[in-house]
Amino acid sequence: MIRVVVSGAAGRMGETVCEAVERADDAELAGRADPSLDAPLEDLLGDADVVVDFTTPEAAPQNVLAAVAAGVHAVVGTTGFDLDELRGHVEAERSDGANVLVAPNFAIGAVLMMEFAQRAAAHLPEAEVIELHHAAKLDAPSGTAKRTAQLIGEAGGNVHEPIHSVRLPGLVAHQEVIFGGEGQTLSIRHDSTDRHSFMPGVLLAVRGVGGLPQPFTVGLENLL
Ligand code: NAP
Repeated sequence: MIRVVVSGAAGRMGETVCEAVERADDAELAGRADPSLDAPLEDLLGDADVVVDFTTPEAAPQNVLAAVAAGVHAVVGTTGFDLDELRGHVEAERSDGANVLVAPNFAIGAVLMMEFAQRAAAHLPEAEVIELHHAAKLDAPSGTAKRTAQLIGEAGGNVHEPIHSVRLPGLVAHQEVIFGGEGQTLSIRHDSTDRHSFMPGVLLAVRGVGGLPQPFTVGLENLL
């Protein structure tokens, strides 16, 4: 059994992750860390093989560093912080082979959207990204949108600035990538209509993070 501590356990995503871990046959919920539960992550690390972090851009980097310093793998869904800065700290401070997997989006459909967008960029390089999320989302543009723009750039495409961010009640997590060429457009759209869409990806990451070849990995596609 993989012992999982969920960081941000009282939040929207954290609560859903706790339920998914409790339902999994090969994992057990070893702790719920969250300020509103009066349960600091540091007190729970001794019981963990993997920490899953869905917190805030301010809290996530510190949580990851506490986990890897304690030899605990980290699966990170939190967005809105500097990945390169965290990568440097993780590589300097990890112990006992602890790995980190950061995924801006754990929904399989969103991973496919990014892959298809990379493919399209090779033929239709001019693109715009529109991301739409619930009104309480803290960061803009979303981590998924920034990652999509990076991948399109690496494939030879050009995402026009700015990325468009829509925040409204009623939305969960949605993104459309529109490519424009002479006399045609191509739209690739993904919609997460429920937070359960992220759970198979989170569990895949919990199972796979320990076997990753690098200490710091970005993107769920590395486990698919
Ligand atoms: P949320 O409902 O605000 O939950 C965040 C929780 O983290 C809150 O309960 C918060 O407590 C807690 N927290 C704050 N500091 C903490 C700390 N130091 N240690 C432990 N817990 C702490 O937010 P959410 O909607 O669940 O989203 C969380 C993150 O996941 C966001 O960055 C969002 O963009 C990201 N996200 C990623 C994916 C993906 O697939 N990668 C999907 C959806 C969302 P307080 O309220 O008391 O501060």
